[in-house]
Amino acid sequence: MPKTDGERVVADLKRLADFGRYKTGVHRPTYSAEDIASRQWLAEKFAEAGLDPVIDGIGNVIGRNPSASRRLLVGSHSETQPHGGWLDGALGVIYALEAARAFAADPTLAGLGVETIAWADEEGHYGNMLGSRSFTDTLPEAEIDQATSRDGKRLRDALADAGYGGRAREYLDPGRYVGYFEAHIEQGGTLEATGRRIGIVEGIIGNWNYWVTVTGEQNHAGTTEMRRRKDAAAALVRLAARIHDRFAEIAGPRTVWTIGRILVDPNAPSIVPGRAEMQVQFRDTDTEILARLERALDELIAEADRAGPCAVASVPISKSEPALMDPGFQAAIEAAAERHAPGLHMRMPSGAGHDAQILARRVPSAMLFVPSINGVSHHWSEDTSEADIALGAQVFADAAAAMLRRE
Ligand SMILES: [Zn+2]
Repeated sequence: MPKTDGERVVADLKRLADFGRYKTGVHRPTYSAEDIASRQWLAEKFAEAGLDPVIDGIGNVIGRNPSASRRLLVGSHSETQPHGGWLDGALGVIYALEAARAFAADPTLAGLGVETIAWADEEGHYGNMLGSRSFTDTLPEAEIDQATSRDGKRLRDALADAGYGGRAREYLDPGRYVGYFEAHIEQGGTLEATGRRIGIVEGIIGNWNYWVTVTGEQNHAGTTEMRRRKDAAAALVRLAARIHDRFAEIAGPRTVWTIGRILVDPNAPSIVPGRAEMQVQFRDTDTEILARLERALDELIAEADRAGPCAVASVPISKSEPALMDPGFQAAIEAAAERHAPGLHMRMPSGAGHDAQILARRVPSAMLFVPSINGVSHHWSEDTSEADIALGAQVFADAAAAMLRRE
């Protein structure tokens, strides 16, 4: 069994957090000076662990393992959200590094090895999961040409400035790996609330989004009689309430839905609104449930449109497919968790998106979660206890060995 060193893991996480430190968190956007320096540091750490590091044309840092005959790809992303936490992404990268060191030190694992990876831009500073999509060959050159950051910098310029511009991109050879394994902080409060220390991810949710537009008639709020009004905001609020009620009746046990963005035009206190818009989003790991909610949404919108006096229409914005994690890998994580933390683990969906959902389309994939204190993430105060960080590293390496031994 590979033996990990929890103190070394915590020390490396703290060192990585020095690149762009912000309060107790980190500000390290993709291709910023801090991000480029941290990728160089990771490449050096991968080399110290006996791997051959490559930083490719999109900024993925890969620790190639030339000696193993069976390989597992392990890692996560290394950039952060703006003023984000020190563990989101970083945890999975350092667990991967520690697994490589633990494997190298264990002669019983001869022939079995991990290849490490720090993905570029999972957090979407320039695009949607650029690194893992590049690696699985679903990021066309044309998209790289067109992509810009939130503050208008072109992706091509960012890659050139980073020194990655002229480099080849590395691509997945599915035959090279038994699969992909990623550790991550939970970013929610389920593990903490139930007193568990390890989460075994069953699937990563699909996230479906729609833009709903209600068109009425803008008019004077003092002189327009109620019976003559076409109040778009009133119609939208009624529709929103019906959506919430209907979804509650037909959702699955873990479905979540949100109307998080509402616009009213002209948004003035003494004008009957002529137009109102909202974004409806729902997430689940079950495509049938997602499809059921979509049908219900379409029906409610058609009903509201027929009822008048306002016109109601919707367009889909984006629909990401759920990704199921490999059942055999889930069993390997569960067995390792039971060995190191008996009874303190649970199976759960991932409500957030991860690179593993991209890899799962090509190779068997798995994810392990450790608890997030108070369920906080995407904020500089995000944290996990050092004991949970150390435990997670050991369960990760142990499960990785079991995945590699599996016939
Ligand atoms: Zn993340």
